Amino acid sequence: YIFVTGGVVSSLGKGLSSASLAYLLQSRGYKVRIRKLDPYLNVDPGTMSPFQHGEVFVTDDGAETDLDLGHYERFSGISAKKSDNITTGKIYSDVLKKERQGKYLGKTVQVIPHITNRIKEFIKHDVAKEDFVICEIGGTVGDIESLPFLEAIRQFSNEFGRKNTLFIHLTLVPYMRASDEIKTKPTQHSVKELRSIGIQPDIIICRSERSIPLDQRKKISLFCNVSIDDVIETVDVKTIYEAPISFNKEKLDERVLKFFKIKSRKKVNLNPWKKITNSVLNNKKKVNIAIIGKYVELKDAYKSISEALIHGGVFNSCEVKIKWIHSEDVNLKSTANLFQDCSGIVAAPGFGERGINGKLITIQYARIKNISFLGICLGMQMAVVEFARNVLGFKTAHSTEINSKTKYPVIDLMQDQKVLLNKGGTMRLGSYKCELLKKSKTYNAYKQEKIEERHRHRYEFNNDFLDHFKKSDMKFVGTNPESGLIEILELKNHPWFIGVQFHPEFKSRPLSPHPLFSSFIKAAKNHK
Ligand code: GLN
Repeated sequence: YIFVTGGVVSSLGKGLSSASLAYLLQSRGYKVRIRKLDPYLNVDPGTMSPFQHGEVFVTDDGAETDLDLGHYERFSGISAKKSDNITTGKIYSDVLKKERQGKYLGKTVQVIPHITNRIKEFIKHDVAKEDFVICEIGGTVGDIESLPFLEAIRQFSNEFGRKNTLFIHLTLVPYMRASDEIKTKPTQHSVKELRSIGIQPDIIICRSERSIPLDQRKKISLFCNVSIDDVIETVDVKTIYEAPISFNKEKLDERVLKFFKIKSRKKVNLNPWKKITNSVLNNKKKVNIAIIGKYVELKDAYKSISEALIHGGVFNSCEVKIKWIHSEDVNLKSTANLFQDCSGIVAAPGFGERGINGKLITIQYARIKNISFLGICLGMQMAVVEFARNVLGFKTAHSTEINSKTKYPVIDLMQDQKVLLNKGGTMRLGSYKCELLKKSKTYNAYKQEKIEERHRHRYEFNNDFLDHFKKSDMKFVGTNPESGLIEILELKNHPWFIGVQFHPEFKSRPLSPHPLFSSFIKAAKNHK
């Protein structure tokens, strides 16, 4: 078991470090699992605004999880599961449910041992053939919220054996411009805090703007009680795909194996990452893609989409430059100016009314101007609305999510959704089958008839309107074989206009880019 904690500040790249380590251990011939423990009280991030916590990542088995699980999948290639992410909210709700059922047999229910026991159960469960389980603890050491997690991993190490549990602590080592110095004090304090709760880190990863000189490394080693070889630096990389290469250079994987006293089974293969890094950094050809959405201020809100676009660029040997466009900034007058340098437009997923008009105007623009267009989830639904209004003539058509009284509910709730009251975890979530029509651009991209993609939505195309669309240029080329629900649309007389009810971005990986994104970027690249 490898536990990864963070200190000094948040957003240091714990997820990326854990994911890179997972890749390196896997490449050395070991089976790895990565998990994330989040200290917030939401039962899952599903009900959180993307502004709060970035994108909600969805697994095949339908869990709404932290976006770090996306990094894990992209780097390790292993599909994450429901059982790989837990929050304080979920832990408490499990414990309280058990208490209400009288399962604690009259005992006083307490943080220690009941909450910490539940955390330890989570860490251990559903682990079978894995050689390593990497557990990332969200938050920063010193937060009140993460205390039960830290206490639990301390106990875990004691029970499971100190030599079988490795603690990695990731901290910030800032550079002070004024004095031209690298400062180790924040790291010392953070490790002191960790040690005060009984955790002695075995490896310290120091995130720094510039390389850490030997003297400062020695200082960290001395004050934080770790061997100098276990002070690993991670200097800002130009692209995240360089991270596995840089951690390997710093011998992180070697130190981990040394700690557990095991040998590498295979030689590490860094070639795929070298190839990708090279492609991302040195491509001469550039393609501008606009992402239109309402959370664009926080890039993490569309993490998997922007990653998938980059993967599509790698596949087509071109650099994808993303232009973020706020849906509220789009109006009939602004389109020409906003999109003039874009050869592709992605209409992002989303919920609720804000920015909908801008989205509809954008879609109309892409349709009429023949700009490559990919509509994802809400983006696909609005492509249906725009087409119904401006081509089929249903002037007031809408999704009932936005206008519950519309005369033409082209996007609507299915009957089983209408009766639900709870918002959390009640969407069509996770992987669903879809069958493609062979005569379609989508089939040409996937090159297979049966696909499975991940979903996260409540509303669907309303099949009552199917006949009206059948006679038009909008073709439904992907359907769920069990329910008959529409999954994919495309426009016949358009170079590349595809809308998907699912989220293809969750399954794109740098080492195997998603076919839709590869095909989309290819079309955009050829845009005149
Ligand atoms: N709000 C829409 C729905 O619930 C779309 C969701 C999404 O874009 N993920 O169906």
